Amino acid sequence: MTLPLRQNSVFRFAPSPNGSLHLGHALSAFLNHDMAIAQGGRFLLRIEDIDLTRCTPAFEQSIYQDLRWLGLNWEEPVRRQSEHFSQYRAALDRLIAMGLVYPAFMSRGEIKAFVSDYESTGRSWPRDPDGAPLYPPLDKTRDVQDVEALLASDAKHAWRLNMDKALEQLSAPLVWRESGEGSDSSVEADPAAWGDVVLSRSDAPSSYHLSVVIDDAVQAVTKVVRGLDLYHATSVHRLLQSLLDLPVPDYHHHRLILGVDGRKLSKSEGSTGLAVLRQAGLTPSDIRSLVGL
Ligand code: GLU
Repeated sequence: MTLPLRQNSVFRFAPSPNGSLHLGHALSAFLNHDMAIAQGGRFLLRIEDIDLTRCTPAFEQSIYQDLRWLGLNWEEPVRRQSEHFSQYRAALDRLIAMGLVYPAFMSRGEIKAFVSDYESTGRSWPRDPDGAPLYPPLDKTRDVQDVEALLASDAKHAWRLNMDKALEQLSAPLVWRESGEGSDSSVEADPAAWGDVVLSRSDAPSSYHLSVVIDDAVQAVTKVVRGLDLYHATSVHRLLQSLLDLPVPDYHHHRLILGVDGRKLSKSEGSTGLAVLRQAGLTPSDIRSLVGL
């Protein structure tokens, strides 16, 4: 993969078209856009649509419409992840050749059953920073013939990073520069907390983690500005950047807009949807005030 020369200040807003944009997205988009303008930099839009079942053209069009209404201008052409599966596959192949990923055959139901069986004895199975159980070690210990037979039989599988092996490749601790919420610090990454993350899903030829690091490199992004809900995922991104020799952007994780129940907004929350607020007569400057800008 040939990477472009990095220039100063490249920002990107990267929504997934699997629902309508809400106030949380507006905050993220405004911050990226405003920082790009303030630094004389570039503002890119990326459509993260690897999930071909949940992402729809109608949601994608509504993203463009909402962002235009907010007064944002981005560079064309927009990068759409679904048009770059071969690039993600090439990165996966490289990690396969390095012996750092393995095919993972357990379904969600099987993982759940494994964990409840384990926990029925009073022990607790480790969870990742998002609260999901770490992937059980069974597939990592299969012998080669067994794996080959399963692959030859077209058994449904994802590709997962062998976290222990990946960590062995590192010669120094991984860090990232973080400027979120007024701080300016160097943060030590903790990818081990995620266990064997998925790099290519059984229902999509990539994963969020893999495509995001490839895209940030290909688009020469210098600063990733996104919500605090993705703060811990940065540890996985730093690890993949190191394994794949990719440049490392700076990071800025911003506060989240919470619903009345104190929880993160979801895409189905009508009352905070940008289209709903627009139809109710609010203006883009009302939206800026509502998100505290
Ligand atoms: N596509 C992700 C989302 O909609 C954002 C990914 C990122 O900014 O790294 O939550």
